[in-house]
Amino acid sequence: MKKRPITYSKNIFIPVTNVCRNKCAYCGFRRPAEHKDAFLMTEEEVAAILKKGAEAGCTEAMFAFGESPEEAPAFAGKFGKRLKDAGFDTVIDYAAHLCRLALEHGLLPHVNGGVLSFEELKKLAPLNASMGLMLETTAEIQAHKDCTGKIPAARLKMIENAGKLKIPFTTGLLIGIGETRNDWTESLFAIQKLHGKYGHIQEIILQNYTPNSGQENPVRDLKPPSKTDMIDLILLTKSILTPDISIQVAPNLIPPLELIQYGVTDLGGISPVTIDFINPEAEWPKIEELKTLLNSKGYEFKERLPVHPLYVKKEQYGSETKRLVMKLADADGYRKN
Ligand code: SF4
Repeated sequence: MKKRPITYSKNIFIPVTNVCRNKCAYCGFRRPAEHKDAFLMTEEEVAAILKKGAEAGCTEAMFAFGESPEEAPAFAGKFGKRLKDAGFDTVIDYAAHLCRLALEHGLLPHVNGGVLSFEELKKLAPLNASMGLMLETTAEIQAHKDCTGKIPAARLKMIENAGKLKIPFTTGLLIGIGETRNDWTESLFAIQKLHGKYGHIQEIILQNYTPNSGQENPVRDLKPPSKTDMIDLILLTKSILTPDISIQVAPNLIPPLELIQYGVTDLGGISPVTIDFINPEAEWPKIEELKTLLNSKGYEFKERLPVHPLYVKKEQYGSETKRLVMKLADADGYRKN
């Protein structure tokens, strides 16, 4: 009998900057620009990670960084000159350059830099195999107080714009940040509505909120979801989303095996090279160990590219990534062995 495939992508995580205009109460990644630990990675630093990723056989360069950092106080004063001297007007222009650098190293870019305008998306789309933005929730919650980019309508608009641009898109829900179960339902229907119109949502991440020591103001009233919550959410997701959308959990944040039995089909990006900068204490499991475990339970742990097989087969990905996608993918759209 054919084993059910559970997919993952071998990636590197490049946190271009940890400066962000938002101040989500649960965030352990963001630092104000004036903070001693605030950074904007140099091209040399990025190239060094890309080189290691290529040597380790990774296919995905995930660029995840703070949203509209230029709008954060003191960013221009601390990093503006360096950006200008390097020849870039904006962080998005710099990100586009880093995507080209990733392609030169043989890695497929996937940018998740928060809410982007239509023009910014249009600039990055040709250079990306896929892109992403967590919807998180359609609810207005206390944890997003004073966060310009966490207005649900702004996030839905970007997901819609990605659909108009035919970008294979990753979105998701963040669970345990003060939302209700009704909000899960509303968020899932909102995602399905956009997917029904544009057919571009390749995967949905169901991410369990996990406290970490990087939080500047540790949040006491937020509650990580239980395993039962996650199972209920997976079942709800299956009942609302069409099956062409992969359901993903992060294997460094929650043991995946039981959740796979309930309908999870993907374990996202796993890195043999870089840490999860958003959840730095949550180590990635070893790919070989996951493979052994899943194979012993009757699943096939199968590597994919940052663009899912369905979209590889439809040739729906950034035009400048085509040569590399075709080199890396097999006839079914998975990673070539
Ligand atoms: S969670 Fe993301 S959007 Fe919110 S403050 Fe942190 S980096 Fe910014």
